[in-house]
Amino acid sequence: MSHLFYQGRGRKPVLEQARGVYMWDREGNRYLDGSSGAMVCNIGHSNENVLTAMRRQMEKSTFGYRLHFETEASERLAAKLAGLMPAGLSKVFFVSGGSEAVESALKLARQHALATGQDSRWKVISRTPSYHGCTLGALAVTDYDPLSRPFAPMMREMPKIPAPRAYLDGLDPDDPETGRHYADMLAAKIEAEGPETVLAFIVEPVGGASTGALVPPAGYMERLREICDHYGILLIMDEVMTGAGRTGAFLGCAHWGARPDIVVMSKGLGAGYVPLGAMIADERLVEPVLDAGGFAHGFTYAGNPLACAAGLAVVEEIESQGLCANAARMGEKLKARLQALMQRHELIGDVRGKGLLLAFEFMADRTTKAPLPRALNAHDRFVRIAYERGLIVYSRRTRDGIEGDHILVCPPLIVNDTHLDEIMEGLDASLAQFTAEIR
Ligand code: PMP
Repeated sequence: MSHLFYQGRGRKPVLEQARGVYMWDREGNRYLDGSSGAMVCNIGHSNENVLTAMRRQMEKSTFGYRLHFETEASERLAAKLAGLMPAGLSKVFFVSGGSEAVESALKLARQHALATGQDSRWKVISRTPSYHGCTLGALAVTDYDPLSRPFAPMMREMPKIPAPRAYLDGLDPDDPETGRHYADMLAAKIEAEGPETVLAFIVEPVGGASTGALVPPAGYMERLREICDHYGILLIMDEVMTGAGRTGAFLGCAHWGARPDIVVMSKGLGAGYVPLGAMIADERLVEPVLDAGGFAHGFTYAGNPLACAAGLAVVEEIESQGLCANAARMGEKLKARLQALMQRHELIGDVRGKGLLLAFEFMADRTTKAPLPRALNAHDRFVRIAYERGLIVYSRRTRDGIEGDHILVCPPLIVNDTHLDEIMEGLDASLAQFTAEIR
């Protein structure tokens, strides 16, 4: 009997060892980590430089309470991150994960409103579907049915606008009119809610788990910024999944030159070595809050020196190994190969993504875009088939969390051509088996 419980009762193999893009269980089975865990292990497993940095930090100190001490590790990582952000985003608040980072952003936004006499602003608009975390605040701006609905009565309902799924709506993603069409839904929602009540809009630059690597249509990000500026609303960029090089740039939003007011990061920053997250805010937001008495928020483990030392080594590794460029280059190749796979497997209805945040979506019919029958549970089933073949991929329901199935293919950013061959062989064989099983 196991004393552990997570989402269900299913027992999993016991992880014994992990190196680079590979993982081994206790029985000696080898897996290629085609999802970097949950889009976390961007620099691969057991990176020696990160382990060395962690050992060094452990010899010095492993904890200093943030209200008692700064540490060299947290100061250096903060400076490093500030240097990688769009201009003005220079104030860093460390946490231990993505949900905590999102919570922190929501609270900073609200406290900035209070500190600047905008008490009526509290609504944070997000998209449907979306995933921004599992704590109740982050969940209030999440719209992913099975994870958010049970808790609806415990949260203040926040307004949502549709995610820009041009491929489902039959619109051309390269036409700036399409981006404008979806972004203008934000303006309409703000008007409907009353602009004086709206605090912020939170969005992922490339949609992650909820929409399955959804790349925004042309013009979308630019128009969002215009709308936020027009209404005096803060733009919070959730880079928990897209950050730390995943999409081929250090921040996903950099592809569109976006100017967020707050960026939140986590997964690829700790990269699986440590629990770490960060909220990086514009100094113009932070200063009034500090002047008004301080930021009323914080977590005990925030700024943990071991976590920060590891995070710094991770970022240095991303830079010194050129992993953003590798993600862009390998991502192009992998995407082209997934598109080629679509010719051979008619159940694949769409291939999308940027850098190494890539996905394909199953459809029963490419013309009508109809999803596979819900009861097939295709996303779980496919993941299991691939897993048994030694390939780990990540899947979710893609239509509002209840229907449709996408598979995220997101290997560590260190992948080479040989790894891509192995991933493609695993996918091809798994798709053939999956098709035979459900037909
Ligand atoms: N935001 C996004 C975009 C995410 O993908 C996730 C995690 N999947 C979170 C927030 C929450 O992060 P965590 O699970 O570390 O709390």
